[in-house]
Amino acid sequence: MAMKFPVEAFSSIETPFYYYDVDLLKETLAAAQREAARYEGFHVHYAIKANFNPRLLQIVAESGMGADCVSGGEVRAALDAGIPAEKVVFAGVGKTDKEIALALDAGIFCFNVESLPEVEAIEHLAAQRGVVAQVAVRINPNVGAHTHSNITTGLAENKFGINYEQIDEVIDLICSMPHIKLVGMHFHIGSQILVMDDFIALCGRINELQELLHETRGLVLPHINVGGGLGIRYDAPDKYPVPDFDLYFATYANNLKLYPGQQVHFELGRSIVAQCGALIARATYVKKGTCKQFIILDAGMNDLVRPALYDAYHRIENLTSQKPDGVYDVVGPVCESSDVFCKDRRIPETQRGDIMAIRSAGAYGEAMAFGYNCREIPKAVFSTEL
Ligand SMILES: *Cc1c(COP(=O)(O)O)cnc(C)c1O
Repeated sequence: MAMKFPVEAFSSIETPFYYYDVDLLKETLAAAQREAARYEGFHVHYAIKANFNPRLLQIVAESGMGADCVSGGEVRAALDAGIPAEKVVFAGVGKTDKEIALALDAGIFCFNVESLPEVEAIEHLAAQRGVVAQVAVRINPNVGAHTHSNITTGLAENKFGINYEQIDEVIDLICSMPHIKLVGMHFHIGSQILVMDDFIALCGRINELQELLHETRGLVLPHINVGGGLGIRYDAPDKYPVPDFDLYFATYANNLKLYPGQQVHFELGRSIVAQCGALIARATYVKKGTCKQFIILDAGMNDLVRPALYDAYHRIENLTSQKPDGVYDVVGPVCESSDVFCKDRRIPETQRGDIMAIRSAGAYGEAMAFGYNCREIPKAVFSTEL
């Protein structure tokens, strides 16, 4: 079911704001949970960094998903939304003592550890508390994802995870520590991945590594966390409102070689929340340059930074006008040349005051908003409020 826009109701709301279609969010959550449940031992954790709006998190919590967190603040947000601590995993290369302490005190399921000094810090803080922390080693699988270079994370050159050569050393260290229990291995190769071959390549690396640990150490870890990264169709949000979770989970089920009883964890962010959200803005001015026409919105890069940061494509629709297309650059008001949502795009002829929707903005949209130029952080409006 494609996203619906109550344009009448929008006319009395101050722009810009994020609009979330709760029906589509719930449908997406249900689809992900249903397709994962077809396989024994598959667990989905929602990657909170994609969108940590508290109302949205509550709806995610109601679906029964766990949470994937990358900061102490996100651990707090997950717990506040009602996601049980035993479904919370915590990754990140720079966990501070304060963040580790918070997660230990909450009793989260697992830390995804990314370096030797982090293992030492967790041991120290767990010992102080007289608890045992469960950890998974985040391994850098040196698998490139076919996506933008700013969002690949699984190459040897990226800062994330522990490289193959160091795995033995890390496992030895963890096994020597009384307040840390090694329960799994963790991977995450990047984001906005639509080519299943990338996930198949990851499965291959995991299989090799599992075999190696089994042969050399007799070690079989109970939890395999494959991270997230499933992409969405920014080009066709109405044709593909819900990602192909069926294909995604089947790819892992068919390509991962599991030992009896092993649990598989997924950390999905974008694919859960991107299509149910849109940034709604008004055209402040339509300006004719010498060789271009500009639609200047009241939303800018501070409200939705993805185009400026990643060259990201978002569909832009005029919800007011059904006139024939013009060709426009759509830009924001911020004093930066990179404050551009798109260039030379065909959009129905637009006038000052028209209401515009920047589609597929539910992930890494509101969550990345900032206040540059003393601009307000955009508000969120849920379909159930209107
Ligand atoms: C960002 C992130 C995710 C989620 O990625 P998506 O592409 O939004 O699915 C999952 N795991 C980790 C460790 C992350 O950093």
